[in-house]
Amino acid sequence: MAEGRSCLSQSRTPVRWYRRALFLSLSMVSLLLALACQGPEDPFLEFSEALALEPGQLIVSFNFDDNLASQAEAGPLLAARGMRGTFYVNSGRVGTSGYLTYEQLQQLQAAGHEVGGHTISHPRLTTLSEAEQRHEICDDRAALLKEGLRVTSFAYPFGDEDSRTRQLVIDCGYNSGRESGGLRTPSGCRGCPYAESVPPQDVYAIRTHGSVTRAWSLSYLQNLVLRAEAGGGGWVPLVFHHISPTTCPSSETYCISRSTFIAFLDWLAPRTSRGTVVRTMDNVIGGPLQPPPG
Ligand SMILES: [Zn+2]
Repeated sequence: MAEGRSCLSQSRTPVRWYRRALFLSLSMVSLLLALACQGPEDPFLEFSEALALEPGQLIVSFNFDDNLASQAEAGPLLAARGMRGTFYVNSGRVGTSGYLTYEQLQQLQAAGHEVGGHTISHPRLTTLSEAEQRHEICDDRAALLKEGLRVTSFAYPFGDEDSRTRQLVIDCGYNSGRESGGLRTPSGCRGCPYAESVPPQDVYAIRTHGSVTRAWSLSYLQNLVLRAEAGGGGWVPLVFHHISPTTCPSSETYCISRSTFIAFLDWLAPRTSRGTVVRTMDNVIGGPLQPPPG
């Protein structure tokens, strides 16, 4: 008995010590978990890594400008093939007739797509005063952030910009600015490269082939990718506007038919096996979500 008591009394100390250690460990784990969980609650602490490109690899980015209602189906069509796009929207038009709503934009973001800024009312920025430009760029971004959209990428309406406009895009907290043009097409911009470099030559003037028009056939789009692949890879951001359920009407210059769009996606999707991948603009550029301008 005595031995038994003795054994029991001896064993109490390590049990208590073990319990205390376990309690302390659990407390530490809880504290660390609580600290770790604070990060995602503050969206401005989020940081996306820039994409590391393999030598010779090509990235294709799908850009959809002007938050046109006909772009709503682009999200699911891309997602069904494991792809995501970037939707550059004008906050002043969101929810008005013919344009995407905030609910649709939030759904797109929830599905992994990106929403970028494209000014409030789509003006030619260089024709405006500095104060007016700041309003169009900064207040547009602030309005989109307020709706829970993670806005880091900007596209210049009409590709119209100068050094003052670029500086404002930086001041308004954007991580990139997208141009219209600057890449070589089968019919133009000779002397231009087939693809943008990664990282871009100028992150606030990301080059494109211009906007897709109704005259661009499936093979024309395929050629842009094939030439860029053959030219050593890089980055091809493709800029879409209207997606028409049937053949694009002559009144819609910046338009692609739904069938051509789907055929292009179906042709592009298997190219991942050759190293060609589809990423959003933010995926390629990376960086923090900067707070709204003060
Ligand atoms: Zn536009």
